[in-house]
Amino acid sequence: MSIPPDAALRRLREGNRRFRADPFMESEALEGHAELGKLSSRQVPFAAVLGCSDSRVPVEVVFGQGPGQLFVVRVAGNVVTPSQLGSLEFAVVQLGVRLIVVLGHSGCGAIEATLAGMVSGDSSEPNGHLGSITGPISRALLDAPRGDDQGGIPEMDEAVGLNVSRSLADLGCESSILAERLGSGDLKVVGAVYELESGRVEFVADAPPIGRELTAPVVSYRTSRRR
Ligand SMILES: [Zn+2]
Repeated sequence: MSIPPDAALRRLREGNRRFRADPFMESEALEGHAELGKLSSRQVPFAAVLGCSDSRVPVEVVFGQGPGQLFVVRVAGNVVTPSQLGSLEFAVVQLGVRLIVVLGHSGCGAIEATLAGMVSGDSSEPNGHLGSITGPISRALLDAPRGDDQGGIPEMDEAVGLNVSRSLADLGCESSILAERLGSGDLKVVGAVYELESGRVEFVADAPPIGRELTAPVVSYRTSRRR
């Protein structure tokens, strides 16, 4: 039985409230902790999350969820590449997931590394495969439509928001399967930012219009320290 997107979103918000109240909660406090036996035959996660690999942002933990509750795709910088799209399409088509959250976070090292390369003007490819992460992030930052008074290289907080915006747009642009379900209202895609200092997940935006290029950033993020 698929859980409607808004109900799934409420469960995530509530789970994050539990996490903030007790970040090291006992496993009994996790949703789904008692269902290990049932999970051996099937999974029915109520939401999918595309998050960063950062060790400080364990997705199930920050949403107060145990086994079987969330379908999680993690990659440094929460970028959208074919493997991520395939995983999310599987969650939607095979598992009936109707909510996808793109979860960025403050202090993201992948974004810091990308910004450092942009500031230094070093256009050489990073060693190894890191370019597969910094490439999409730098395009997210450089190609983003921004206000008239803004230009050049974004500050860190803005970059986090722009990168979530880009991933949100990519989900609808790069996957016809996801786009179709977004169009019919079967699927909802929302952006969120996890704040390292407070443990709070701020849900910041719905997805931009389906299948169209991003014409404005949909995520505007500033840490609460500066608000
Ligand atoms: Zn990160």
